[in-house]
Amino acid sequence: MPVTQELYNTPLKVDGGDYKAANVDAIIIGAGIAGLTAAHGIHRAHLSVLVFEASDSVGGAIRTLRSNGYLVECGPNTLLDTHPEVATLIEEVSLSDARIFASDKAKKRFVVRNGVPVPLPTSAGAFLRTPLFSTRAKLRLTAEPFIRKRRTNGEESIASFTTRRLGKEFLDYAIDPFVSGVYAGRPERLSVQHAFPKLGEIEERYGSLIIGQVLGARERKRRADTAKTSGRMFSFENGLDQLPLGIADALGQRIRTRCRVRSIHYLNPNWQVEYEDASGRIRAANANSVVYASGLQHTSLIASLSSTAPEIETVDYPPLNVVALGFRTEDIGHALDGFGLLVPACEDRFVLGALFSSTLFDGRAPVGHALITAFVGGARSPDNASLDDANLLSATVQDLTSLFQLKTGPVWHHISRWPKAIPQYNLGYGSVKAALNNIEERHPGLFFAGNYLSGISVAESIRSGVTASEHVESFIRKSQPVVI
Ligand SMILES: Cc1cc2nc3c(=O)[nH]c(=O)nc-3n(C[C@H](O)[C@H](O)[C@H](O)COP(=O)(O)OP(=O)(O)OC[C@H]3O[C@@H](n4cnc5c(N)ncnc54)[C@H](O)[C@@H]3O)c2cc1C
Repeated sequence: MPVTQELYNTPLKVDGGDYKAANVDAIIIGAGIAGLTAAHGIHRAHLSVLVFEASDSVGGAIRTLRSNGYLVECGPNTLLDTHPEVATLIEEVSLSDARIFASDKAKKRFVVRNGVPVPLPTSAGAFLRTPLFSTRAKLRLTAEPFIRKRRTNGEESIASFTTRRLGKEFLDYAIDPFVSGVYAGRPERLSVQHAFPKLGEIEERYGSLIIGQVLGARERKRRADTAKTSGRMFSFENGLDQLPLGIADALGQRIRTRCRVRSIHYLNPNWQVEYEDASGRIRAANANSVVYASGLQHTSLIASLSSTAPEIETVDYPPLNVVALGFRTEDIGHALDGFGLLVPACEDRFVLGALFSSTLFDGRAPVGHALITAFVGGARSPDNASLDDANLLSATVQDLTSLFQLKTGPVWHHISRWPKAIPQYNLGYGSVKAALNNIEERHPGLFFAGNYLSGISVAESIRSGVTASEHVESFIRKSQPVVI
């Protein structure tokens, strides 16, 4: 097996610098996509901004590796053009032309049933014929429009919601693998109201998911002429990290990598941010406002403000490993003709699922080779994520061998470990959001941004960064004296 040559995105070379004397309009903690987007918006509003990032590169969870002719996404693989803020940001950093869209083949997705990958049906006819669901489960679906809305208030788990409306088999072979693919989470724990709020809203509005689906599609069709690219899946020619690198390029020296923020204090009327620079020295910087975009894995920072709400400290971030595997095409029996494959928990396998990365986008594997990206761990099987590299690799390959009729092992691999990967919007997440709102209200000039607010996707994280930048701008403008 060739030794992996790692070529992560180039770290920005900047020195720590002491900003105690200067007072900037905003300090951003964390150069993930949410923090970068916030900094970008603040900079465009002609306000002064500084970004402190603990690691040596920007992008946070967005991390692209180029090695041995493969282009691997160690974190997210795709971005969805679901919100106008995404296209606007990409345009503003002049990356619109660098976008590449997912292959048409990616419309097909597989779900494992009885150890075999079965295509997820995409039409009514295919649904009637698919072996993915039993006749009983298909008949059960026809009852859905007649099931009454839930009467009780409060959060409901995705498992309870789905079983109530669509039946247990639909939970097992459609929703459970989907939830695992998006959140690496468990439907028994995730809250419908926070993890998939649209589902709860459809039930509330139409009284039925099936009726809501039909009427919602009609409404979307009517709107289609104004949002033609809405919902398209894309990446960039050189991988997803082109986006954070593009934003960082425009911000230049305003970003300080290898600067870990240790505490934040409100020293009326300013904020003081204490950080450790690359050489280990403790320094301080002052600002009129602060955007906290470093995730809820690091709540000691929030605790430095006031006593942290226990809800915030206990947000679950299960571990997730990304195992990228390069094969000679001739060694794979499966056509890899789709987006990827999802594994339901009841199938009791090692991997959570796998993406057909080289089918999804061009240029992801050398000619004659294919790239498969498997996911291991998550809330379903966190112990699998703690295996050492050799055991993780062999268990992953063994599991995929029967699914893809592999004739031999991979010719190349790379493992990325995310010890705290994705925040779980579990039951009770409403109190996490309420606690965050409460902290924001009690601290003028402090704003939150990131994937723990209103969605874990890259698109939602971008949106949260845009909102934070708008809040900073209006806060700063309000606190400035009006010049007549
Ligand atoms: C394996 C994986 C696959 C995924 N797949 C997809 C996908 O296909 N599509 C999709 O839309 N989403 C996907 N996601 C989710 C999405 O990538 C993330 O939710 C999103 O990128 C998070 O952005 P963020 O800016 O909120 O946080 P992060 O990216 O976590 O950024 C936070 C930043 O803060 C920094 N930081 C932390 N503490 C400090 C400190 N004390 N001082 C300074 N800096 C600090 C961190 O180093 C980090 O750079 C995936 C996530 C993972 C992990």
